[in-house]
Amino acid sequence: MPILVMKFGGTSVANPDRIRRVAKRVGVEVAKGYDVIVIVSAMAGKTNELVNYVEETSPLFDAREYDAVVSSGENVTAGLMALTLQEMDIPARSWQGWQVPLLTTSAHSAARIVDIPTENILRKFDEGMKVAVVAGFQGVSPEGRITTLGRGGSDTTAVAFAAAFDAERCDIYTDVDGVYTTDPRICEKARKLDKIAFEEMLELASLGAKVLQTRSVELAMRYNVKLRVLSSFEEQSDEAGTLVCDEEEIMELNVVSGVAHSRDEAKMTLISVADRPGIAAAIFMPLSEAGVNVDMIVQNISEDGRTDMTFSCPTNQVARAEEALKKAKDSGEINFHDIVEDTNVCKISVVGIGMRSHTGVAAKMFKVLSDEGINIKVITTSEIKISVLIDRKYMELAVQALHDAFELDKAA
Ligand code: ASP
Ligand code: MG
Repeated sequence: MPILVMKFGGTSVANPDRIRRVAKRVGVEVAKGYDVIVIVSAMAGKTNELVNYVEETSPLFDAREYDAVVSSGENVTAGLMALTLQEMDIPARSWQGWQVPLLTTSAHSAARIVDIPTENILRKFDEGMKVAVVAGFQGVSPEGRITTLGRGGSDTTAVAFAAAFDAERCDIYTDVDGVYTTDPRICEKARKLDKIAFEEMLELASLGAKVLQTRSVELAMRYNVKLRVLSSFEEQSDEAGTLVCDEEEIMELNVVSGVAHSRDEAKMTLISVADRPGIAAAIFMPLSEAGVNVDMIVQNISEDGRTDMTFSCPTNQVARAEEALKKAKDSGEINFHDIVEDTNVCKISVVGIGMRSHTGVAAKMFKVLSDEGINIKVITTSEIKISVLIDRKYMELAVQALHDAFELDKAA
């Protein structure tokens, strides 16, 4: 039998009623002849609640016990989903991560998947089971302890199962009906994409288009797993949602496929650092050791042997970054005159595989922003992406203007 993986996010399994609803979707696929692996998230809000319990109990918690607690939400929905399917006369059982077993590293709260042996579940399919319901987000370490894969990790569980079982497709059911050209809450002309290439989705996922966990897209790209994002709240056809796939499967590549934004960015500038070999390492090592997620980095041209170094990071990491840099200054590792912070910026990016073969995208983007009177503070580019930092108050305006200028409301 061909295997299909279906993943249901927290809002899709938020209560027994919704579980019944999505179980019917599973029944439709079983009736088509699939053996189905269902991956479930915890009920909406559950994981946050569990994280809060842990932090309340033990501020400097033991990460192994954190995982023991926060993984439990998925156990509940897996059992309830199996029961619901049984009530519909569909042979189903639940599996916790360790029972599969989904083997991970020991990096608690951010474990990586090492292997998913398929024998146990395949044997059950052979014996007539139609649906294996697997608790997402969790696995087991070499030490035999429960691990979790990081927030949003059920997406990664789903893709990993699809790869391990060579599934025909991995359907990710969520509360939006697909991937959009931009955030529909900001731009009413946002259009749902029928298809998007893995690499574009990766850029959009990491840019904060919160539909899929970034790692799940990386994994899908590596194993060429066809990923479909679709809503569990709408009637479904086989063409519903957005297919995330290899660019070869997309006939008309857009020059620009989407405009992403990330609201909570901060810009930090170290004024007048000595421009010598090793200076960048001396600045960014302490930042990385302090767990600061540095994104853009710009070094100015130097004058009289001194230069300015600018970088961006999430707003809520500014204090931590500042502390790390001041410590490095006090210990003599680096030397700068001042730190200037700007916590009122946002990042806007245009993404598209077609940029590889088309020129002029950057120039057009800058012109559009300038026509709106928006000043660009930092620019970075990659092969398929151009990102700028601008004042946060212009975020909506910039997204709408770029969406219009690149005609993203029209299909290619
Ligand atoms: N329940 C976990 C979370 O909220 C994992 C997931 O839903 O993907 O992060
Ligand atoms: Mg999610």
